[in-house]
Amino acid sequence: MSECLFCKIAAGEIPSKKVYEDDLCYAFYDIDPQAPVHFLVIPKAHIASCGEVTVENAPVVAHIFEVISKVTKELGVTDFRVVSNCGAQAGQSVPHLHFHVLSGRDMTWPPG
Ligand code: 5GP
Ligand code: ZN
Repeated sequence: MSECLFCKIAAGEIPSKKVYEDDLCYAFYDIDPQAPVHFLVIPKAHIASCGEVTVENAPVVAHIFEVISKVTKELGVTDFRVVSNCGAQAGQSVPHLHFHVLSGRDMTWPPG
């Protein structure tokens, strides 16, 4: 069995609050929300980070962006930020590719 936290969440072995699911990806609310709306979208297959995207696994990333577009519409969210931290210095704490979707408050730029 994988020891990866998000592989376990995608497999339903660790509970989470589901936003969306299909064969390729899983979306769930962040346990420590940084905005009124904050969910994560992950591929079901393990990819460590944006830095591990290849020509072979890139289609799931395109699919995830389709899902983000669809789910935000369903939630009535029009203004939002998508973030993927890659590596510890950039703030990645879980080594399974994930896209944060944040909305519902003013966002600053540049990010901290
Ligand atoms: P990162 O820091 O790697 O960019 O993002 C990881 C995110 O996963 C964090 O925002 C953190 O709050 C969230 N997270 C960590 N563990 C869990 C968990 O067990 N369940 C859920 N729903 N979110 C988690
Ligand atoms: Zn994983």
